[in-house]
Amino acid sequence: MTSTESFTVTQAATSKIDQCDFENLKFGKTFTDHMLICDYIDGEWQKAEIKPYAPFQIEPSSMVFHYGQAIFEGMKAFKDEADDVWLFRPEENFKRFNKSAVRMQMPEVPEEVFLEGLKKLTNLDKAWVKRGNGSSLYIRPFMIANSSAIVASPSSDFRFMIILSPVRAYYSGEVKVMIAEHFSRAANGGIGAAKAAGNYAAQFYPTRLAKEKGYDQIIWTDDATHTKLEESGTMNVFFILNGILVTAPVSERILDGVTRKSIIDIAKREGITVEERPITVTELLESFKNGSLTEIFGTGTAAVISPIAGFAYQEVYNELIKPEESIAQKLKARLTNLQNKLEEDTFGWTVKI
Ligand SMILES: *Cc1c(COP(=O)(O)O)cnc(C)c1O
Repeated sequence: MTSTESFTVTQAATSKIDQCDFENLKFGKTFTDHMLICDYIDGEWQKAEIKPYAPFQIEPSSMVFHYGQAIFEGMKAFKDEADDVWLFRPEENFKRFNKSAVRMQMPEVPEEVFLEGLKKLTNLDKAWVKRGNGSSLYIRPFMIANSSAIVASPSSDFRFMIILSPVRAYYSGEVKVMIAEHFSRAANGGIGAAKAAGNYAAQFYPTRLAKEKGYDQIIWTDDATHTKLEESGTMNVFFILNGILVTAPVSERILDGVTRKSIIDIAKREGITVEERPITVTELLESFKNGSLTEIFGTGTAAVISPIAGFAYQEVYNELIKPEESIAQKLKARLTNLQNKLEEDTFGWTVKI
């Protein structure tokens, strides 16, 4: 065991890496040798511990089980040709995590614990970061309420953790989506802009109903009128209309995606016109009919870009014609090349650990 000022590091006696089949990884099912834990007790962050990945004990009365104070982040580390490991815009995830924390009445995590912690942890498990074929290490920081009391008030104790999962390129396949006419992901004044676990929980049931009708995901609309297109599943959503890249502006109801803002900047650099403005269902239907709608895609850390084959509205499915030259694929290649250090990062987004 070694101890630096704010971290205690206990290394695993043996590594599980030899048992890992890197060719056949299922997304998010395999974890590396170590994890980070940092508890918040009586108003103070305790010393962070990096130790072997393992289950831990928790009280049945732990507040997270009862009142759902739980937030998370999702980011990736990449290995370049020289075997150096790079993070992609980690500051953005750090800032967003603490924004989510504030909205969920949870303590903000110190930068030292979050950013230094994830660098130390990733560095310790860097053998798990593979090169090529869209391989990367998915990093999952999260925080739960952890006071032991079934009293409906905010928790005073919390646990912050980081776990790491080696992943390969995530192919979502041909995604068919259904436009939400009744259910909502987020509401004004709600927690849609926070990466709160509960937002995901609330999506599973409507998504299952959509699956029963043959659709993979839901395009969420604004809760008040169900006329504005906001996100696709757990991804931000983009449309190509007359060659212009259009996406809804971030708001209280829309998660401020790191992939979203990176794609916007890359598109602008490529000379593509970008519009951040509300898009209505009516506009989508009209532009589908007149042929100006050529692509729809979702953006998020896991899949980067997930092309959407078509959309259903009021029980009618509208299939897009596959573009000969997909703008989505071009933008995806640019972003993944930059992340994997295969092309120069003129934006300064990649951070070496
Ligand atoms: C995480 C998330 C995204 C994508 O964010 P990235 O930072 O690009 O991974 C989009 N929408 C929702 C609802 C999310 O939870």
